[in-house]
Amino acid sequence: MPAPRLGSTVPLVPPLYQSSVYTIPDLDALDRIYSNEEPGFIYARDAHPNAHALAATLGQLEAASWGLVCASGMAALTASLLSLVRSGDRILASNWLYGRSNQLLKQELNRFGVQSAFVNCSELEQGRTALQTPTRVLLVETMSNPLCRLVDIDAIARVCEHFDTYLIVDNTFATPVLVKPLELGADLVVESLTKMMGGHGDVTLGVTCGMDPDLLPQLTQVMSIWGLASNPFDCWLTQRGLCTLELRMKAASTNAAALAEWLAGQPGVSRVVYPGRADHPDYELAGRLLPRGFGNMLCFELAGGRDGVNAFMRRATGVPFSPSLGATQTTCSYPAGTSHRYDSPAERKRQTITDGLIRLSVGVEDLAAIQAEMSKGLS
Ligand code: PLP
Repeated sequence: MPAPRLGSTVPLVPPLYQSSVYTIPDLDALDRIYSNEEPGFIYARDAHPNAHALAATLGQLEAASWGLVCASGMAALTASLLSLVRSGDRILASNWLYGRSNQLLKQELNRFGVQSAFVNCSELEQGRTALQTPTRVLLVETMSNPLCRLVDIDAIARVCEHFDTYLIVDNTFATPVLVKPLELGADLVVESLTKMMGGHGDVTLGVTCGMDPDLLPQLTQVMSIWGLASNPFDCWLTQRGLCTLELRMKAASTNAAALAEWLAGQPGVSRVVYPGRADHPDYELAGRLLPRGFGNMLCFELAGGRDGVNAFMRRATGVPFSPSLGATQTTCSYPAGTSHRYDSPAERKRQTITDGLIRLSVGVEDLAAIQAEMSKGLS
């Protein structure tokens, strides 16, 4: 929707339409808007100009033919899944997923008769074997939270096509700056805009983008009926954040790569997990999938376990413990107690999410300043 004209001028920055409802001249206009014969808005939970503008920008970034902005990353994932599955369907998912996504499948959709199975999709053959059982949707993360396990999107997309299974890719860690899953054959790409895309730690939003126009009407209905819609101000802020996405991602990835190497040499650090390091299990795939950089997320393990983590957090106050990611500032989180808190201890053990594991969201600060803060925590 173009910005409104003010005399012969238009605002450089798209305006914020902070209105929950729109006035409509009469019933004929109402019908024309509902049937898309005329542009316009009715009720913000169904659609609003800031969500439309943001969806258009995101659609371009993702090389998609459409995008739908939702209230959070989880809202976007929920809307995507609810629009595709019905009771009795099977979902297959990577066993390297964000904890709440695991819960959505195991705990919530399971209540409505949708079964889920989990396999290591970083091993293509495991995915192929599991897809031989009829499956409506395969859900994977390009780069998993928190251990950055990668999935060969291109290859798994071809397997999904063969078995007539929809492929949903959560691209939150990678962002379209590093990889565009729709170009590699995914049916839907989902992102938490709360993270690197919004980029400033001040919004809660998500998006789902796709190529097939037939998927959009059902998704839009689900978003409105289940109450998963976005709010205008967060959309406006995210639009602004996206102006610097490429710059931020580039700077933060460069910092993260350097910091991973530096951390590996620090006393008390027993493990560093970063896909750009030769000791990462998906290092070879990372070289092919992520030619533009390996992202801003890394994990490291302290030999001192939970006590060591507490000591780190208390000393490294310049790397605040704030359980999210993707802000301009470097922050840390604790997967065992936050993102994967509700996974069973056995599941955390399988994923090697130990009591000493810290997840770092590397920011765009001067590298030396980050190292100085980290040193305080490690001392
Ligand atoms: N997907 C991944 C990989 C995440 O890390 C997160 C949140 O941390 C989400 C989805 C959910 O996003 P949101 O918090 O915006 O609902």
